[in-house]
Amino acid sequence: MFRPSNSQDNNDIKNFVAFTNCFSDMISRISIADSSIIYVSPSCKRLLGFTSQELLNHSLFDFVHPNDRLKVEQAFAVKTHDTDKVVYRMKRQEGDYIWVETTFCHYEYLESQDHEQYFCLTRDVTDLKLTEEQLKENQKKYRDLVEHSHDTIGVVTFDGCWIFINGSGKKLFGITRIGEMIGRSMFEFVKKQDHEKLETAINETIKQQSIQELRDITISRSDHEMRQTEIKMIPTSYKGRETIQVVLRDISDRKKTEEMLQQTEKLSVVGELAAGIAHEIRNPLTAVKGFAQLLKQHNYADVMLQELDRIEEIVNDLLILAKPQVTSTEVTDLIKIMNKTVTLMNPQAIMHNVTIQTQFSSEEIKVECEADQLKQVFINVIKNAIEAMENGGNINIYIDDYHHYVMLRFIDTGTGITPDRLKKLGEPFYSTKEKGTGLGLMTSKKIIENHHGQFNIDSKVNKGTTVTMTLPKSLATN
Ligand code: ADP
Ligand code: MG
Repeated sequence: MFRPSNSQDNNDIKNFVAFTNCFSDMISRISIADSSIIYVSPSCKRLLGFTSQELLNHSLFDFVHPNDRLKVEQAFAVKTHDTDKVVYRMKRQEGDYIWVETTFCHYEYLESQDHEQYFCLTRDVTDLKLTEEQLKENQKKYRDLVEHSHDTIGVVTFDGCWIFINGSGKKLFGITRIGEMIGRSMFEFVKKQDHEKLETAINETIKQQSIQELRDITISRSDHEMRQTEIKMIPTSYKGRETIQVVLRDISDRKKTEEMLQQTEKLSVVGELAAGIAHEIRNPLTAVKGFAQLLKQHNYADVMLQELDRIEEIVNDLLILAKPQVTSTEVTDLIKIMNKTVTLMNPQAIMHNVTIQTQFSSEEIKVECEADQLKQVFINVIKNAIEAMENGGNINIYIDDYHHYVMLRFIDTGTGITPDRLKKLGEPFYSTKEKGTGLGLMTSKKIIENHHGQFNIDSKVNKGTTVTMTLPKSLATN
């Protein structure tokens, strides 16, 4: 302990003791020779849970966490006259450890046997240390997140120059080193057609300080390959500078998958159709085969021809269904096609006591189409109408000419269709007729849609059915 020599010193010591009692920081003196604690202020109770008495003469290292021992030993060995700070863990009376920071100050105490000592000031830095660790961990997590993200994440200046970009950027832009991108403009890698969209998004991000999203932006890679992306722009600050964080997601694969899915859907329809075809074609074939055997005795050629016609009809419909697009279109007069069809269907109508009446808003309406396919649609619809009127009736056909499109309506006075059957009309092979194929409406709808038109059926039971179609007019007529 200090040895007072006069009253001034005495006062100093009083002050010092009062001082050390007030603070939670711990003051101690430690012998450099054997690291024993020579003096420790009463605040050690608050810090470590030990009384001064309990600590005295113990080695400082009895309380240092083994993993931090080396660090403290090194600080101990330096013996500088300057203050030296070490952060390490100290064991508390209850057995737990706290993080402390100790300032070691080398001091020569001539009156003492252990004349080489350290004056130490120790404070609890656990909260500080934990917050620091948390911060570091968060930073690392964020860095890992950015670095290992599938998405390309980068930072650009307000004029769109890259100042940071993560590893995924290499794959998206087709480059070898991220460094190649830094300082270059985002616009260099975006297709010209999308420049305006990109510029607007950047300006809006800055102006509104809010996230902007862009869809379907085409990236032109360094190897000239194209990639479809979705881009998100987030206002942020990077190294103290106002910037924009850019997240690019490559959706080329997703687009491809979507296309493939559509294709698969088509295939499954074809599969469904195939099952139906087998069934539908087998019936007439059985008949033809049976009659062929009988042909030896009687003349059944008529029946065979009828059944063969039916097979032909089914196969024709299927061919139209299988054909994805209208291939050879020509600008044709719709009125002419309709008149020809009506002439063709009239004998059948008369036979069933049905009258066909037509009313056209113009003498000539040109549409770009495959005439034979449209004729097929009209035949299908008129045939259905005739078949729905066993006891005769009327079919009214209207063609109305609008500015950009034509509207066709086929109105019959037949049995009509119940609402639940109306829902099923899109399904192949749905027919209420003994000899029906259930393909007529489906093919008709498909043909009209392939001509960029619309096809719709409206019906009331016992009142009749209206089939409405619209078709775009040929630009040549305007
Ligand atoms: P199909 O004529 O071979 O039966 P469609 O696809 O042409 O096949 O028609 C499917 C079904 O829709 C018909 O079986 C019939 O029940 C119903 N339908 C179609 N058009 C009419 C109509 N104008 N009036 C009443 N029912 C109709
Ligand atoms: Mg039909």
